[in-house]
Parts: sequence; structure tokens; C-alpha cells
Amino acid sequence: MESQGNGTRELPRQVRIAIVGSGFAGLGMAIRLEQEGERDFVVLERGGDVGGTWRDNDYPGAACDVPSRLYSFSFAPNASWTRSFSPQPEILDYLRDCAERFGVRSRLWTDTKVERATWDDATARWTVETARGTLTADVLVSAAGALSEPRAPEIPGIDSFAGPTFHSAAWDHDASLTGKRVAVIGTGASAIQIVPKLQPQVESLEVYQRTPAWIVPRTDRAFTRVERALYKRFPALQKLARDAIYWSRESYVLAFTRQTALLAVPGSLARRHLAKQVPDPVLREKLTPDYRIGCKRILISNDFYPALSQPNADVVSSPIAEVRADSIVTQDGVEHPTDAIVLATGFEVTPPPVARMIHGRDGESLGDAWKRDGMKGHRGTTMAGFPNLFMLVGPNTGLGHTSMVYVIESQVQYVLDSLAAMKRDGLAAIEPKRAAQDAYNEGLKAQLDDSVWQTGGCSSWYLDEHGNNTTLWPDFTFRFRKLTSEWDPEHYDARPLAGSGVER
Ligand code: NAP
Repeated sequence: MESQGNGTRELPRQVRIAIVGSGFAGLGMAIRLEQEGERDFVVLERGGDVGGTWRDNDYPGAACDVPSRLYSFSFAPNASWTRSFSPQPEILDYLRDCAERFGVRSRLWTDTKVERATWDDATARWTVETARGTLTADVLVSAAGALSEPRAPEIPGIDSFAGPTFHSAAWDHDASLTGKRVAVIGTGASAIQIVPKLQPQVESLEVYQRTPAWIVPRTDRAFTRVERALYKRFPALQKLARDAIYWSRESYVLAFTRQTALLAVPGSLARRHLAKQVPDPVLREKLTPDYRIGCKRILISNDFYPALSQPNADVVSSPIAEVRADSIVTQDGVEHPTDAIVLATGFEVTPPPVARMIHGRDGESLGDAWKRDGMKGHRGTTMAGFPNLFMLVGPNTGLGHTSMVYVIESQVQYVLDSLAAMKRDGLAAIEPKRAAQDAYNEGLKAQLDDSVWQTGGCSSWYLDEHGNNTTLWPDFTFRFRKLTSEWDPEHYDARPLAGSGVER
């Protein structure tokens, strides 16, 4: 991909703020900093352009499963969405347009992978080593995303497969799958979008299912030209539509957390959907989950089940034993001749790889600290032992029911308020007190213990290796917004500039 940022310019040596990543989070942070008059910052992007997950996940059928009106920045409503659930190319165009429109392209360094960031207590600064050189920054904002590193499944022999093998988040557009025998491994949110697009073009499609998903109808439709014109002419109307979607989605929170009996409603909707779309009782049985709806992300699709019902498609539910050069062998002893394998097997989440390269006050990496103690942060954003580090989409900020952009904007406000306080009060460094961080996480745990994610009888990427949910926010999102609406200095150790020997 052609570089779209400051690809050829030298990096500055020192900045006030270094942002890692330019997806919704990094871009949102950059735009809001720019709007607040901050000019001393860079955005370091490993890829060739902005967009994050919406740049990388360009597989056939990629689209958002949160309504477009809500899945956008509140400060940049878009009257041009063509559908109620936006396809990936439109979201990527939207993010590119935001980067231009809000004037942050000049702050962006593409093809600049951050390799290591180390806190230096003497200078109260981060040393950030990148593929393009080293810079120092007073503040580091990690906006690398929670779902950005593809997870390759550990399947014996997979490296010996002779045909194309690629992950859903790194689609090989040069590999022609037309007329081939294709295997898709996984039945998560990515797979259910890919399968209906592949099925009509391939000779045969085998979907390797470890755990069936709960799927409800997708109420997608094209917006009419009149609607789009109206939204453009009357932005308040769009805001009204956005608010209506927001509040209807918040009602899910009770069902996921405190009143899980309410999940009977989407549960029966999903069962009816399956019964209606899959007439074959054997296939239907295979596709029926044996855990509670909501335990994993509830998926939305109108074309996944019909694709699986076609004569050239099959659901393989016997676990994979090994992969050979031209086949997949399942534990029931069947060898499945295969020309290409699509890995729709999800992402490294707990902890995300970006944590491994961030080294705090004691030299330990955030990844190692989280491996030991589980992913923890204060208000999902700052971490004890890691001064002047802010993480967007940090621990327990994920959502299963509504738009991550809402959470991201909340965190961005928290960062802005913290930065303003540091400037106003002459602070060299801030770091959450361990006790405050622990109290915050104990509160979360109490709420999570009764949630369907913990009690629903499934395993998912929401849970870490100890079975703790360190990924999702367990309450209404407006509560998260309130919590992050301003900096909470009483929960922080702050080091004043005066008398610290630190120069700014
Ligand atoms: P995922 O939900 O983690 O699903 C991975 C799938 O691969 C699961 O079905 C998993 O089975 C299966 N799998 C993993 N390793 C396997 C193995 N060794 N053998 C057989 N099967 C294996 O990943 P994803 O579908 O990429 O979605 C991840 C998240 O990305 C979603 O939850 C969502 O938050 C986000 N996403 C959003 C959209 C959107 O529309 N906005 C679209 C795509 C993704 P098990 O269930 O048994 O583990």
C-alpha cells in the first residue's frame, strides 16, 4: 500500500505526546488534541495508512455489526452512510476523510512500527524506539487496538500445508479461491461474514466449527437518497437517530450482567432464526449452541445459515487433528482434501502484544505484569507502575452490545483532562495509585462475576487464561463516560516539575 502519512520525513526527536496507532482510537485522540490546540504530538502507525482494524480486515463481506449512525465519531456525523450497517470500505473511507478533514495527516508517521517504549524516571519521559528511529515523549498514548494481532491456531502440521493459508485480518487478495476446495476455520464474527461470500465462488467449502455461535437476524437495509439528503440537511435528525440506537442498545447491559433471565428474548429470536433458515435437522443440531446466548458475542447474519445449507458447503464439527500438505484430517479419521485455508481464528487479546513492548518504571513490560496479575488498569486507561501512559481500549473497556467509538471518545476525554491538569498544575508525571487501581478492579470483578460472560458456560476471548474477564466493561456505557469525564487526581501519585530536576 502506498504510504499516506509523513512516510519519508524524519521523525522529530522529542514530542509532548506520542500516539501509537491510527485506528478509531488513535485518530480520535489526534483529532481531539488538535481541536484543543495541542500541536506537539505525533501518531506512529505501523501500516501504510490510517484505519487500524478497518484497514486490515478487508476480507470479503467485512462490515460492521454495530449500526453506522452510532459507529462513528460524535463530532463527525456522516450523512453519507449507504446502509444501516456500514461495509468495511465505507468505514475506512470515513476514517481517511476524518484524518484529512480534521488536519491530522501531517502528524502521522506511517510505516513506523513501535518496537519498544521504555520509561525513564530521571527525565520523566518515554523513549520510543520505532522502525524509523527513536524519539522521546512526555506522554505515551497506546491506541494499538485490542483486536489487532491475528491469532494463528496451534494445529499440528499447519506449516506444511502447500496451498494458500491466511488469516481473516490479513486477506491474501492474490490467492484465487474460485473453483477451489476451501476450508474456513472458525465460526466467529469474521467467519460468518466471509462464508456467504466464498460459498458461491468455490468448488466446496468446509467450515470447521469448534463452537457454534448464537446468531440473530441482521436488520440491515440501504438508506434511501431522501433519508441521506434529510440527514445532511438536518444534522439534528441524525443525532436523534443516533441517540435512539444508543439507548436501545444500552438495554442489553441488564441482560448481560444483572438480569440474565432477560436473555431468553434474544435466545428465542436466535432459535427461531435457526429453525427458519436451516430446515435440515442434522445440520440444525450441529449449529445449535449448548451454552447461554450472550456468553460469546451475539452474531448477526441473514446469509450465513443459508450458505451452509448449499450443496457445496459442509460444517465439520469433529476437531482438527492435523493438517497435511493438501488436506485437513479430523479426529474422526476423515481426511478432507483442501486447496486453501482461511483462518478466521480471532486475535491475541489477553494480553495484546503491544503490552509486551511497553516497559514501565521498574523495567518490567506491561505484558509480563499482565501475564502475572491479569490485565488491569485504572478506569481502563492508566496503569500503576507505568507513569504517563494512557491506553485506549485498555482492560475492561470492550463491549459486546454497542459502539466502541463511544468508549474511545470517553477515554480520549479522560486523557485530555489529565493532560490539561498536568499542564495547569506543573506535573512531570502522573501514575495511578496501586490501591486505587485495585479498588477499581475489585468493583469490576464483583459486577462481572454474575455476568453471562462468566456464567454462561462457554470459553471466549473475553476471558483470560485464569478464567477472568479482563476485556469487557460490565455496566452501562454512560456510567463509563461519567467515570472518565474528568481526571480524578485523588487516585494518582503526581510528581511536580518544580524541584524534580526534570526539564520541560
Ligand atoms: P473470534 O470471535 O475469536 O472467533 C474465532 C473462531 O475461531 C471461533 O469460532 C473459535 O472457536 C475458532 N477457533 C480458534 N482456534 C481454533 C482452532 N484451533 N480450531 C478450530 N477453531 C478455532 O474471532 P473473530 O471472528 O475474528 O472475531 C473477533 C472479534 O472481532 C469479535 O468478537 C468482534 O468483537 C470483532 N469483530 C467485529 C466485527 C464487526 O462486524 N464489527 C466483525 C468481525 C470481528 P471457539 O469459539 O471454540 O473458540
